Amino acid sequence: MIIAIDGPAASGKSTVAKAVARRLGFDYIDTGSMYRALTWKALHLKIDISDEKRLTLFAETSRIKFLRPEDDEFRIFIDEKDVTEEIRSPEVSGAVSAVSKVPGVRGEMVKKQRGFRNAGKSLVVEGRDIGTVVFPDAELKIYLTASAEERARRRHKELVEKGYEVKIEMIERDILARDRLDSTRETSPLMRAPDAVTIDTTEKSVDRVVDEIINHL
Ligand code: C5P
Repeated sequence: MIIAIDGPAASGKSTVAKAVARRLGFDYIDTGSMYRALTWKALHLKIDISDEKRLTLFAETSRIKFLRPEDDEFRIFIDEKDVTEEIRSPEVSGAVSAVSKVPGVRGEMVKKQRGFRNAGKSLVVEGRDIGTVVFPDAELKIYLTASAEERARRRHKELVEKGYEVKIEMIERDILARDRLDSTRETSPLMRAPDAVTIDTTEKSVDRVVDEIINHL
């Protein structure tokens, strides 16, 4: 079984998707972290991120893998390097939409994401195009939203806890810019699947959203 959770930046997808997976004993896949890992690698190697050919080749030859150690928090590796913390930096957030809009990169990522299904386990998969492109036959599709102010507040708190010094106004601007790029790109833009259930998380606790999803299931 597949539960697809899509939605704009910082709408609560990761927190909710992880909690749903934990409650149901499903595996959890954060597809945004795959685009982030590739972006981290491109920035690290000082690749020109407007070079679509190079980025596509990059996606084809990079090995991305998830590991879930004892403490339950998943970790992401690109070419054997653990980049779990690095991919959350403002630099990666600022560049990721330019990388994820490249059709060749998306094709490769979608292939990798569909491969996770072959392991036979039920999955909670979060991203932007899961219900529309990656798993259009998912048994349950959820589209999470929240107001821009609330999303900026959540992301700001998360970054401050990680030691970044960032202004909330800047975060809101970045989130809105990323939403604009993600929703207007040509290849598999951020879009609500017609058969998705929309949940606005602005004034809801994580537990309540998880309960709603499980009720829908
Ligand atoms: O979910 P997160 O905010 O970490 O995703 C980072 C970026 O990865 C998004 O802004 C988007 O550009 C890209 N992405 C995507 N398709 C997905 C998941 C993420 O294009 N399925």
